[in-house]
Amino acid sequence: MSTTKKPCILVTGGAGYIGSHTVRQLTAAGYEVIVLDNLINGHRDVVEQVLKVPLIIGDMADKNLLEEIFKDYSISAVIHFAAYAYVGESVKSPAKYYRNNVAGTLTLLEAMATAGVNQFVFSSTCATYGIPDSFPITENSPQVPINPYGASKKMVERLLTDISQASALKYVCFRYFNAAGAHPDQDLGEDHDPEPHLIPSVIYAALGKRKAISIFGSDYPTRDGTCIRDYIHVVDLAQAHVLGLEYLLNGGDSQIFNLGNGQGFSVQEVIDIAKEVTRREITVEKGDRRPGDPAILVSSSEKAQKVLGWQPQYPDLKTIMTHAWQWHLKRHGSI
Ligand code: UDP
Repeated sequence: MSTTKKPCILVTGGAGYIGSHTVRQLTAAGYEVIVLDNLINGHRDVVEQVLKVPLIIGDMADKNLLEEIFKDYSISAVIHFAAYAYVGESVKSPAKYYRNNVAGTLTLLEAMATAGVNQFVFSSTCATYGIPDSFPITENSPQVPINPYGASKKMVERLLTDISQASALKYVCFRYFNAAGAHPDQDLGEDHDPEPHLIPSVIYAALGKRKAISIFGSDYPTRDGTCIRDYIHVVDLAQAHVLGLEYLLNGGDSQIFNLGNGQGFSVQEVIDIAKEVTRREITVEKGDRRPGDPAILVSSSEKAQKVLGWQPQYPDLKTIMTHAWQWHLKRHGSI
């Protein structure tokens, strides 16, 4: 048996949706993990009862707390999920987004530099691309975000470029398309309150926990007038983070990767798949456009496949929907 101890990884936002799935895969791969989460959107019970790793409750903007963490633990790398991530909310409360996502991350990066921790995996977003003029979107497509959420993540990308050029920092930046689904073991899933995202919202409508699902805009220049997105299974996203981390720990240079499946589904198509998977009545209402929403976002993730060897395990939207449905049924009861 090998006695080599794998490095300790600090995961900010590890009590959240994508963070918790990633922690699960990190521990399965043998990494020691510490979660830092302020529990605004994260779930204490998930870390304590499912992931069973140390949880530090606090904020990434708390410089003294970060200094203590880097002193107390021998951290080799940071995977940084902690952020506000709702497009609609960011349009209504932009300052909240810039303070948390940009200023908070800067504090974290400064604390890492002071502690000599130089490897960083960052959650960015396809919202940094704004309204693309061609598809699929590659890492070189222009980034002109149209909402404060996307702008805040683009600003952090700029921080990373500049700081890495001036220091030993190496980073992997993932631009996610639409994370969805749940762990097939049904003990981790998507649980926001309130829930703004499409797939869980449709499921709530199927469960009768919501009167209806509202389609935000039916007059977009798409095949059925509703917005098109590229949905990616949360377990596949998590897997990419483990690969990105290993790439850095093996001495890789800073890189940016899209993470999506390269196939677009309209809001209407997502609702149709939900009806098929859940076999429940789903009341659909046509609502106004949501400010900040681009019509179409579909990725090319060839670079992640080539450089990291990333291969999505669950690319099919029906499987993604089924896993989400099973998790919600288990959590909320099959009413
Ligand atoms: N959407 C919708 N009704 C809802 C929630 C979302 O029509 O109740 C639409 C939203 O406008 C977008 C797509 O579904 O076009 C995906 O939205 P989501 O919030 O899930 O992810 P985002 O694309 O904002 O990251």
